[in-house]
Amino acid sequence: MTGSAPETFPASQNELQAMAYTDPLTGLGNRHRLHDKLRQLIADRAADPAPFTVGIANLDGFKPINDLFGPSAGDRILCQVAHRLKACIPDGATVVRWTGDEFAFLLPLIFERRSAEKTGVMLKEVLSAPYDLGDRNVRLSASFGFAIHPFAGDGFDDLVKSAETALYRSKRRGRGQITVYSTEIAEQMKRATQLEQALRNAIMADEVDVHFQPIVNLANDSVVGFEALARWIDKDLGFVSPGIFVPLAEERGFIDSLSETLLRKAAEAALSWPRELFLSFNLSSAQLIDPTTAFNTISIINRTGLDLARVELEITETAMMTDPVTAQKIVSELRAAGIRIALDDFGTGQSSLSRLRDFTFDKVKIDRSFVSRITSDNASEHIVKAIITMCQGLNLEVVAEGIEDFAEALRLKALGCGMGQGYFYGKPVDSEATRSLIDRQYVVDDARAGLLATRTA
Ligand code: C2E
Ligand code: MG
Ligand code: MG
Repeated sequence: MTGSAPETFPASQNELQAMAYTDPLTGLGNRHRLHDKLRQLIADRAADPAPFTVGIANLDGFKPINDLFGPSAGDRILCQVAHRLKACIPDGATVVRWTGDEFAFLLPLIFERRSAEKTGVMLKEVLSAPYDLGDRNVRLSASFGFAIHPFAGDGFDDLVKSAETALYRSKRRGRGQITVYSTEIAEQMKRATQLEQALRNAIMADEVDVHFQPIVNLANDSVVGFEALARWIDKDLGFVSPGIFVPLAEERGFIDSLSETLLRKAAEAALSWPRELFLSFNLSSAQLIDPTTAFNTISIINRTGLDLARVELEITETAMMTDPVTAQKIVSELRAAGIRIALDDFGTGQSSLSRLRDFTFDKVKIDRSFVSRITSDNASEHIVKAIITMCQGLNLEVVAEGIEDFAEALRLKALGCGMGQGYFYGKPVDSEATRSLIDRQYVVDDARAGLLATRTA
């Protein structure tokens, strides 16, 4: 016994060391292994330093799969991910299990952004193939963050922090995104976080308002409805466009509370309008992938007492593309409740005619980019003409967006466009100014009707 002890001691110490550097589930190295490899690489290149890359991959939607199929299915997926990554990483690279559903890489021969992105695309594709769970297959995507030494940091901690920042940005942007760290990206993220805080506070303090822009019947210029447009003026930042803060609220996961506030305010304002005027409200792309959107939207409107038949919801083609099945379901539920659906910014997104055939809409809004060139550019005029004709055939109403002058209005009328919206007819204004506009129109209408009555008497 005494003779065997000295022989087993070094072996078990090696084993202990190996264990300290290995992830027991997947058999890959762990973060200590990566740290060690990185230190070694920097030491090897001390005389002749060259850039290299650290990357982190996070599996998208792993937690729900783990919750649904159980932890042992989750473990099987993680082992298959590890196996695939090990088999496909470039020569000389290291892959380790970082934390739960995160894997990290050391890529000694990746020197610059484009190569890092290309590697990310390759790894993403490898991970997107189905995972075999015996009785079923599941699919996953992955998000990536890369940091290139020495631009993104000198030592292990700094590089990992930069890769995590890049990964965080990828996750914020949706599934399957790849980001390579840069100081501009870090700066952008810092600004976005400041804006996020200001916007969250503004929502809490009820400082985000809704304005209304008239939509007119082009045949007689009378107002037929209003589009609600979000407005926010921050005391430090000044006017912030909804084109910036709506996507930010989507990215940071609080679009629901923002949209609820806006829809409630818009619907309450619309209650005081004449019954024949409709309210058009924009749904955001994140809302079109959330199966609860139809129910929530209908409940908010019902709570205000506004007739659902007076409401239109605007959605874009691009927004519908992320998850067409869910989007279609939401659209059907909303329409079944009597809400009408308008396809916004038509012509700019991933326009597909088959979508017009397969989805059921009530209205198409031709994007301003075509309308603003209709009097100067022959091609734009033909496109607008074709859209109008197509919509007539499909029994869809048409609104031309962004009409800024009389000539555009005239041309659109001549092409048979039913409705229009734009600065020529009125800029978006607050609910009080909207009421005055309505009152003025009804005074004119009443006078016209009175005149007609005296003439026919
Ligand atoms: P959108 O839905 O296409 O809204 C039309 C945009 O064009 C509005 O910009 C409007 O002010 C602007 N506009 C209207 N007529 C003219 C014109 O004659 N000339 C020019 N140059 N512009 C015109 P706005 O208010 O900045 O909104 C930008 C986008 O932000 C909207 O595009 C919509 O996608 C989004 N948005 C605005 N409010 C909301 C909201 O409450 N919820 C959601 N989800 N998105 C919103
Ligand atoms: Mg719109
Ligand atoms: Mg639009």
